[in-house]
Amino acid sequence: MDVNSHAEELASDLGVDKEEVKADLQNLLEYSVPIDEAKQSVRRKHGGGGGGSTPTPDSVDVDEITTDHDGVTVTVRVLTQGTRTIRYQGDDLTIREGEIADETGVISYTAWQDFGFEPGDSLTMGNAGVREWEGEPELNLNDSTTVAIADETVEVDQEVGGDRSLVDIAAGDRGRNVEVRVLEVDEKTISGRDGETEILEGVVGDATAKLPFTDWQPRSELEPGADLRIEDVYVREFRGVPSINLTEFSTVTPLPDPVEVAEDAPRLSVADAVASGGMFDVEIVGNVLEIRDGSGLIERCPECGRVVQNGQCRSHGDVDGEDDLRVKAIVDDGTDTVTVVLDDELTAEVYGGGLDDALDAAKDAMDKEVVAEAIADSLVGHAYRVRGNLSVDDYGANLDASEFALADDDPADAARAALAEVGE
Ligand SMILES: [Zn+2]
Repeated sequence: MDVNSHAEELASDLGVDKEEVKADLQNLLEYSVPIDEAKQSVRRKHGGGGGGSTPTPDSVDVDEITTDHDGVTVTVRVLTQGTRTIRYQGDDLTIREGEIADETGVISYTAWQDFGFEPGDSLTMGNAGVREWEGEPELNLNDSTTVAIADETVEVDQEVGGDRSLVDIAAGDRGRNVEVRVLEVDEKTISGRDGETEILEGVVGDATAKLPFTDWQPRSELEPGADLRIEDVYVREFRGVPSINLTEFSTVTPLPDPVEVAEDAPRLSVADAVASGGMFDVEIVGNVLEIRDGSGLIERCPECGRVVQNGQCRSHGDVDGEDDLRVKAIVDDGTDTVTVVLDDELTAEVYGGGLDDALDAAKDAMDKEVVAEAIADSLVGHAYRVRGNLSVDDYGANLDASEFALADDDPADAARAALAEVGE
């Protein structure tokens, strides 16, 4: 059910205006308040009472839970737990989130109060609410939920605890623990909900990958070269890649031994990289199929840096564009395609000249397109090793290249060389 249908149902129950109910609901949902709780709150506001008593639901297996259930009783093992503060009706509320499992499967949960359980505990949770979260059912543990120690240990296939290598970290993860070396740190001032706030942004690495991080409570331990165990982080998508977030609940402990950091980016097929939903510092190898429009000599808005078309910026209208070089190349490795984006420096390398050379060439030809055409002539049909940050959205996958080099293990080149020898 969407907000509209919930609002309609509530409004007709309570006999009040639907738009008013909808506005109240939306306001609560913006603060991540579960729909059931939001509805109860709106009910109370309009004098509709608490919604009656709930019979104790039957026990179910985790893999049977659907969003059609109002409430369930499950016997599960706690896999992970993360702690976070959200703002709820003007107050800061500490919630706990993570995953629980039984023999049949895994489900995520949000606990709206501290039940005192930890990863590894085997528990029976009575009358847990079910809500939909990112298309999947999720358990909602609230003040009508009971939590008791289970009679026996619940055996599960999944790893208990939040320790993960960086390569296994994904957006949406909660309560993760990582052991990393801090590679880069920048101090930043942002305007948050409580005014100007100092934060740290940077990059951490381990033997499997590198990832960006944000520390919302700047800690002095996070300095370049520090080897740290960081517990209770959550992961969200930032500029299309997973980003590690440290909160007031995260703990940072220096490690006695240095953390080995991967020199190379993990190499994935394009299909696997795209399926990950976004990756920081990944490597792919594929053939350039074509160069897309908006490559070569381009103009950018001086205000926001967006590419200007016909003198128009999407945000700033009529602007005096600044010349720049860029390539958007479609690269295919047989499993899928990705748009590889080269910045001005990498473009100058593949073009064999900088911005001034490109402007001269365009002037001589009286046509800007000669630059993109020259780049297409040199790239299309060749295999390249590309390293960079991959972001995936509704419009496709983009790989912002930090390295772009002819692949030495190019199967197409090898085939051509063999043909040439036969021809001689
Ligand atoms: Zn602009």
